[in-house]
Amino acid sequence: MAFKVTLTDTSGFSSTELDKLDQAVAIWERVWNSDEFKARVLGFGFNQTITTGTWPFRKKENRFCPYFRMTSETRIQVYNNLLAGSERLNPGDNGVADISITLDKRDGKSVIGYTYANTRMQWIYSDWFRSVTPADIAGNLAHEYCHKLGYSHEFNYNALRSFTVPYIRMSLNIIRFGGSRPLMRSEASLGSLRKSFRREKTANERGCGRLKTGL
Ligand SMILES: [Zn+2]
Repeated sequence: MAFKVTLTDTSGFSSTELDKLDQAVAIWERVWNSDEFKARVLGFGFNQTITTGTWPFRKKENRFCPYFRMTSETRIQVYNNLLAGSERLNPGDNGVADISITLDKRDGKSVIGYTYANTRMQWIYSDWFRSVTPADIAGNLAHEYCHKLGYSHEFNYNALRSFTVPYIRMSLNIIRFGGSRPLMRSEASLGSLRKSFRREKTANERGCGRLKTGL
């Protein structure tokens, strides 16, 4: 059964902006239904340096961790759950991601958007929405959706955060399918992607923080 995204509730979008949102949704669906995404989740892992032995025979070792941080689920369980579409506030494995989204026209002060654990609604700032590509928006929708499924990451930005489910690098993957950039982003755009992750923390992560305490 293919994974599907339904915009159950949209508020504040003009018809042009709704078109852009539809494009983002189409990209997200394409990515999550792809073999490449499946391979990425099932093969996910990261290297961690650990210290073994006792003094004076201590040594540092690089160990490959074949799992996502901040969840006890295996990679297969994560993959199945991502595609099952069973949101915490809307349970049921129907294979559909139900998205409720409002365009917030206030000054986002360089923040992407925000959400809270006790609502199905997510907010996205219009200045960010207008300045980015549908692939970028797809990445943000997918990230927030992971929170709606109950996955979290640290409140503060740090390098390890990218090894959690919401930071599965689906953004990069999405860009691969975004059309305008067939392969990888240029280094410069990678930099701006990192910057946007960092920006997210200001307000968006306030919502993430609440989500975490709500778990
Ligand atoms: Zn987040």
